[in-house]
Amino acid sequence: MKITFYGAAGGVTGTAYYCESSGARILIDCGMFQGGRRDEARNKKAPPVNYRTLDAIVLTHAHLDHCGRLPLVVRDGYRGPIFGTPATMDLVALVLRDSLKVQTSDLEKLNRRLSRNGKSKIKPLFDEADVEGAISLMKPLPYHEPFSVAPGMEITVDEAGHILGSGTLKLVLTEDGKKKSVIFSGDLGAHGMPIVRDSENFTEADMVIMESTYGDRNHKPLQETIDEMTGIIKRALDTKGKILVPSFAIGRTQDIIYYIEQAFRKGGLPRFPIYIDSPMAVEASRIYMSHPELFDDEMIEFRGSGEEQRDRGFIHPTPTAEESKHLNDVPGPCMIIAGSGMCNAGRIKHHLRHNLWKPETSVLIVGYQGEGTLGRRLVNGDKFVNIFGERIAVLAQIYKLGGFSAHAGQSDLLQWLNALVPCRPKVVLTHGEDKARATLANIILDRYGLQPFLPQYAESIIL
Ligand SMILES: [Zn+2]
Repeated sequence: MKITFYGAAGGVTGTAYYCESSGARILIDCGMFQGGRRDEARNKKAPPVNYRTLDAIVLTHAHLDHCGRLPLVVRDGYRGPIFGTPATMDLVALVLRDSLKVQTSDLEKLNRRLSRNGKSKIKPLFDEADVEGAISLMKPLPYHEPFSVAPGMEITVDEAGHILGSGTLKLVLTEDGKKKSVIFSGDLGAHGMPIVRDSENFTEADMVIMESTYGDRNHKPLQETIDEMTGIIKRALDTKGKILVPSFAIGRTQDIIYYIEQAFRKGGLPRFPIYIDSPMAVEASRIYMSHPELFDDEMIEFRGSGEEQRDRGFIHPTPTAEESKHLNDVPGPCMIIAGSGMCNAGRIKHHLRHNLWKPETSVLIVGYQGEGTLGRRLVNGDKFVNIFGERIAVLAQIYKLGGFSAHAGQSDLLQWLNALVPCRPKVVLTHGEDKARATLANIILDRYGLQPFLPQYAESIIL
């Protein structure tokens, strides 16, 4: 079998791996490239494979960088199945519809300007028919049972512990009467993350293709970060200001709410109002709660305790624009969780404009802030920022919390690989910047005597 890497090879986005055997062809993930303009220009095309002969697409999870180019595949004529776990199916529908909405609203502004300049308009990468077409092709993939996805190809999904429905895939190939196996780690979660279970370990494979996002470092211990957050919130409650939390809608928002509920319960934090000001986060939270079969023991215990119901009185979704605007008049102390996670779009920008100049405001940065984003400027300590063309003084307290990553740190990655080392698999490292990937490769060589392969874009490996 030949595996070709059409994404997440020398970067962390655009995951798409093409697997060809003598009898079948499948694509593992079909993600969007994210980051600078050069990366995003690569999203104009689906991964370069023949969609008339492709047997199946299999998804590891629902993040946009793993499923975002599915509508392009439909536009290119693909009509076969797109497999994902049931929770992944639910989240993919949300993610793809939102992606089209964001593109359309971004283009509206740009196209108005282009029209004024007498230039022709730019179309979105795909349309509603492509999005709905992709969603209609989704088929459920069970956890823990070998499932035939194409002739001679069986896939078993184990928990990856990254977001709801995330999986590590084991592909068993039968060719000329012989069996071979390859494991696709997908994105692996950090150990001890809330709500979802920790990642499981496979113990046998001829090849393992694993992510290396944090291959060069470990995260701060989670409990330290939770304690730090509780301390910041307690101080902020004294000033009676608003606590603004820019957050990604899927995964991070649900985790933050869970941590705060635990701090209400065990950390001595007085209950106070929390607003989830993002239609997408509200819907993602609903999907999370509709999959209790995927919860870890702590979450099951918490739901059984009945205390979750008491917290519900303090947690208010504000999905409509009207409700969102109303938050300007709500007195502090309160917390507003809104997208986007890096403050470069979405409702959080409105809240920042309304509150950054007030010394009683606190901003809690809980995720990575990319170069050039408003979030990065706040983290860097800029005294003034531009929001919607207006110069705003930053008098708010800006706090950065380091330990809430949804990705395994270096030691979690090595621990996951450890279970596979006795069978001496070929190791392939993907989904990592070059420095992270090279650091992890050196440790794997030193510790286990296995020399990892680090593919570049469109490079192949034979199993
Ligand atoms: Zn992910």
